[in-house]
Amino acid sequence: MNEPIGLTILGSTGSVGASTLDVIGRHDSRFRVIALTANRNDEALFAQCLSHNPLYAVMADAMAADRLRDRLQAVGRPVEVLAGLAGLERVASLPATDYVMAAIVGAAGLLPTLAAARARKRVLLANKEALVMAGPLFMAAVREHGAELLPIDSEHNAIFQCLPSGFATDGLGKAGIRRILLTGSGGPFRLTAPERLADVTPEQACAHPNWSMGRKISVDSATMMNKGLEVIEAHWLFGAAPEQIEVVIHPQSIIHSMVEYEDGSVLAQLGNPDMRTPIAHALAWPRRLASGVAFLDFARLGRLDFQAPDFTQFPCLRLAFAALAVGGTAPTILNAANEVAVQAFLEGKLRFTEIAVAVEQVLARVTGHAADTLQQILADDALARSVACEWIAARAGGA
Ligand code: NAD
Ligand code: MG
Repeated sequence: MNEPIGLTILGSTGSVGASTLDVIGRHDSRFRVIALTANRNDEALFAQCLSHNPLYAVMADAMAADRLRDRLQAVGRPVEVLAGLAGLERVASLPATDYVMAAIVGAAGLLPTLAAARARKRVLLANKEALVMAGPLFMAAVREHGAELLPIDSEHNAIFQCLPSGFATDGLGKAGIRRILLTGSGGPFRLTAPERLADVTPEQACAHPNWSMGRKISVDSATMMNKGLEVIEAHWLFGAAPEQIEVVIHPQSIIHSMVEYEDGSVLAQLGNPDMRTPIAHALAWPRRLASGVAFLDFARLGRLDFQAPDFTQFPCLRLAFAALAVGGTAPTILNAANEVAVQAFLEGKLRFTEIAVAVEQVLARVTGHAADTLQQILADDALARSVACEWIAARAGGA
């Protein structure tokens, strides 16, 4: 019997975090939970500590960490509770941790995920914002420290599965690959008339037709910024030039992405839209593991549809391609502005259609730099956030 694999889940109380716990709960003897982490919700993390017995629990918020420590002490559970960024970085790099599921949402995930890469872990990357924000730096850390990077985002996991074994990121051409076809459902507003988009509510934007996800990525899916972030993510993960990445709208979300080869072959990965499949894939790679996901029934599916994306209806997609073309910290600025704008939309301070306007305004106002030092990346991220907040405040004041 092999030793169990030590797993740390950054962002365990989220949608991807919960799906990860569901998968490993089906294979108790294969995995040992080393650490679970959350932002502020100590009640949710307490419940997970009771059911999964981690050695460590980390709350980003110090007061929530104190509450969690008290709760665990009261029931006599010997879990070491840590707080803040230092706690997150520590559990991501502990010797007992073999694999790190990076499932914090947004830029907050960058430093703990980077710590995992620098500690040579197998990094299961769901936190796409970390890669969008700091692509060159993150990929260099993975290479230099010999970490193993496996994509969890369903599209990138699908592409990974369709690549030849031993694929290296030094150019698709060498592997006989012509293009990457990144599929997207088009979100809940694919068929909505453009003039109705201005009045969309957060509840409508978060009601995705095929996937159940956290609120931030749900809004990103509705604006299609999510697909834009995924284009940038694919660029870094697979060394694909922007013109080698094509977005294809596929409303049923059954094909999760495809790789087109020089000889005309197209390989696709299919499955029901449930994150437990890519999670189980990355946990078991290069083997396979049962995930609990229902198997496909092709006779019931009947048909699969495809269409080209509409860059006018979804300007965020255009902005993401543009930021990737500019390079340097332009994607950092795009991501930061988007995070601020999405939060403002969720709080009722910005219209749905103004998310793209805010991002475009911030990209025009903040000058990018080379994205090769952490200091520069964090500085441009912070500046873009403050410019986005100012723009939103001025907008609200003038309305
Ligand atoms: P979520 O909002 O459901 O969960 C986010 C997790 O991060 C929670 O555990 C939360 O406590 C933690 N967190 C939030 N802010 C934090 C902070 N400042 N510091 C520390 N921890 C913090 O999000 P999700 O839908 O699970 O998505 C997580 C990541 O995975 C995102 O980057 C998303 O783009 C990506 N992703 C999600 C899905 C999906 O199906 N949900 C699919 C593909 C990729
Ligand atoms: Mg995705």
